[in-house]
This record gives sequence, structure tokens and C-alpha cells, in this order.
Amino acid sequence: MKVNVIGAGLAGCECAAVLANNGIKVRLFEMKPLRRSPAHRSDGFAELVCSNSLRSDKLDNAVGLLKQELRMLGSLIMRCADENAVPAGGALAVDRELFSKAITNAIESDPNIEIVHEQVTSIPEGPAIIATGPLTDGALLESIEELLGESLHFFDAAAPIVTAESLNMERVFAASRYDRGSDYLNCPMTRLEYFKFIRELTEAETAPLHEFENVSVFEGCMPVETMAKRGDLTLAYGPLKPVGFEGCRASDGKKPFAIVQLRKENREGTLYNIVGFQTNLKFPEQRRVFGMIPGLENAEFVRYGVMHRNSFLQSPKHLSKYYSLRSRPELFFAGQLTGVEGYVESASSGFAAGINMARYLQGKDQIDFTRRTAIGSLAHYVSEYNGGSFQPMNVNFGIMESLPDAPRDKFKRFLALSERALCIIDDINKSL
Ligand SMILES: Cc1cc2nc3c(=O)[nH]c(=O)nc-3n(C[C@H](O)[C@H](O)[C@H](O)COP(=O)(O)OP(=O)(O)OC[C@H]3O[C@@H](n4cnc5c(N)ncnc54)[C@H](O)[C@@H]3O)c2cc1C
Repeated sequence: MKVNVIGAGLAGCECAAVLANNGIKVRLFEMKPLRRSPAHRSDGFAELVCSNSLRSDKLDNAVGLLKQELRMLGSLIMRCADENAVPAGGALAVDRELFSKAITNAIESDPNIEIVHEQVTSIPEGPAIIATGPLTDGALLESIEELLGESLHFFDAAAPIVTAESLNMERVFAASRYDRGSDYLNCPMTRLEYFKFIRELTEAETAPLHEFENVSVFEGCMPVETMAKRGDLTLAYGPLKPVGFEGCRASDGKKPFAIVQLRKENREGTLYNIVGFQTNLKFPEQRRVFGMIPGLENAEFVRYGVMHRNSFLQSPKHLSKYYSLRSRPELFFAGQLTGVEGYVESASSGFAAGINMARYLQGKDQIDFTRRTAIGSLAHYVSEYNGGSFQPMNVNFGIMESLPDAPRDKFKRFLALSERALCIIDDINKSL
């Protein structure tokens, strides 16, 4: 029996390699070079469509931990990334052409993998893994939508997410409007702070939109900077209206002129998104301008706001923690299509989907990497997220299970989380 893997991106290649390493025959479909998405340029596999950085390589950073876990698990993507690294300080950046070439060679020379250059237009029968990425479109997209009974999201208009512990709680208070509990964190602004903020927001540099992205579709989920450009008071009368908070005061002792609200992103309350702040500002500009919001002076961004085409499943409704469809266990999804965000995260979901497909076919217990590892915390996030609107997520320590006696010092805490995770991966490796 062969497993059909669709898409030879970061997730699909990792999937195919792990299946092949476990003795499973794979038929890997890739539509390039016959057809390319608007972001893909080269003919090689595992193309990095934008930056050549795989981000931090340090264990006090969750993406650094994820990389180390993948290395220990024998990831093809990590091996090729390490072998084709270019100097980038504490980050892991790669020569994107050599990286893609190394992966393409490894996949092409694997006797267990058959490569088919074809655009897949419907979900295949039998065991299959769909890893066609955030730009999945056309007939395949329609066939997934038909199967799931819902349309996939086409545009990612996400607001930034910050860690709770990085907020200055002397400037922030917990309350919901009109005494309806204390679910939100609120950042009251003085008149002066508001107008300074609006000036910087409207003049800040935005990221270029790719040619395939039609700006008009963003009307329904307007970037905060676009809204601010419609008039100095638009935000003060809109998402920042300071109503429903009796007795609250800004730093000048007066009633706030505007209030920025932060909404819980997870059950534990370790992460918050900035309500209404979907944005297309460049990442450093988000840090600078949103850092002007009282309480966010030193905010740690675990995810920046982004606006680009991004098809992804409402995975918590459909996927198990093994990345298989609950209603059809021989069908798996992997990569950014599942709601993980980023190159390494996509590869990690490819690894988890691949190993669990292999074990499913071999009649073995599937692997729950648990929320105590980075790879497992992403799998749990996409299959179990129960907050507001489900949005793609980069790996971060906030989605991992916290330590019982966590050190107060953040650096030590992150290292301790990493140490625990790597011990678990070591145990899993021994059991394989
Ligand atoms: C414009 C843009 C910029 C981005 N920049 C970054 C960044 O700088 N850093 C970062 O970490 N992440 C970035 N991302 C997110 C990035 O896409 C993912 O992190 C990663 O590439 C997703 O991996 P994937 O394997 O899920 O999909 P992809 O890498 O997109 O791979 C999907 C593969 O499937 C193939 N395919 C698609 N449809 C079919 C079909 N019907 N039949 C056969 N083959 C098919 C495609 O040709 C492609 O090779 C960006 C995304 C976009 C859209």
C-alpha cells in the first residue's frame, strides 16, 4: 500500500521522508514546475517563499527548542538546514537554494518515494496526507471544503499576540466592559498618548502586499492603521472606545481618552491578542508603535499581526492531536494548512503527521508528543484550541504545559521547559 502525500513543501517533504524511513511506500505529488502558486518561484522542493531564516536556534526560545526536538527525531528538514546554514548570529538561516536542493536530492533518491509532478484536484481515496500549504486553491481546495462542510479561511488578518508576563501590570487593569467580569486586560490612554499613538500609527511603514493579494478583500477585516487613516478619532469611537469602565483612570488621573483591550488567547491566560489590531505594519514597526500603548512598553510578541492569503482548516473542529481527520482517520493534514504558522512549525507538523500515519498503518499506538514538548504543543493547539477565532500560531512557550515549580526568572524557566521537553523526546525516541 502507498500513502499519497500531496505537496512537496516543508511539511510534505518531512512527511514523505519519515514515512519512507519507517518502511512505508510514498507517492509524493508536487504541482511544480507545471504550476506554481503566486509566491513560489523555484522548481525545487521545500521552497522558502520569503525569508531564509528559520529563526532562533537557542533553547531559551520555543522555535529553538522545536528545532532541537526535530533534530533528535531525525528530521530531514533540520538535517538539510544545518548542512546549508549561513551565519546569522543566534538564528538559523540557510542558503535557500542549497537547502531546497539537498531536500530535493534526498527525496528523489529515496527508493520508498515515487514523485509525481501533477496538480492534485481532489482528495485521493485511501491513506493520504494533504500538505499543500497556505496558498492551496482551486479544485483541491473546493474538495476539502466539501468534505469539511465549510469554507476555509482565505485571508489571514491576525492581530499580534503578546505574552501576559511581559505586560506592565502597573499600567494595565483586568475588567470586561459594563462589569461583565474580568476577562480582558485594558490599557487606558490619556488624550496626549492617544494622539501621539495615532500619529505614529498612520505614518508607520507597512509590509508590501504580494501582487496576488487584492487589497479590496481586506475591507471586512480592516488593518488598524487603515482605520486610523480614516480620521484621528475613528479608533477612539471604534475598537478603542473608553466606555463601560466606571471609575477607571489613565496615567494623568483623568478618565481615559481611549482604551486598548487585550483578549485572552489561551485558557491559561499566558497569551493575549490586541483586540482589533489586525495589521499590515512591518514587524519592527509593530514593536515600536504598539509599544507606545501603555502597559505594552516591553511587550514580547509571540506572533506579529499579518495579512496575507492563508487558507487553513478550522482544525480544532476536525483534527486529532495526531493531525488525522477525526471523521476519516486515514486522511491526515500537515503544514500551514492545519493552522501552524512558520517554516519549522510546518515541518514539525509534517513529522508528527508522517510518524503517526506510519504507526496507524502498522497497527501501532500513535504518538502523543504532549503539551510538554514544542512539537506536541503545536499538535494540541491545532486540535484543541477552544478560545475565540482560531488563527495560525507560531510555536511559543505560552502554548506549552507550564512547569509545576517554575523558576521566576524567565530565561531559566524557558531553559527548564526545554530541558523537560528534550528528556521527553529522548524517551519517545527510545520507545520507537
Ligand atoms: C507570502 C508568504 C510569505 C511567508 N513568509 C514566511 C516567512 O518569512 N517565514 C516563515 O517561517 N513562514 C512564512 N510563511 C509561511 C510559510 O508558507 C509556511 O511557513 C511554510 O512554507 C508552509 O509550509 P507548507 O509545507 O505547509 O506549505 P508550502 O511550503 O507552501 O508547500 C506546499 C507545496 O504544495 C504544492 N501544492 C500546492 N497545491 C498543490 C496541488 N493541488 N497539487 C500538488 N501540489 C500542490 C506547492 O507547489 C508547494 O510546493 C509565508 C507564507 C506566505 C504565503
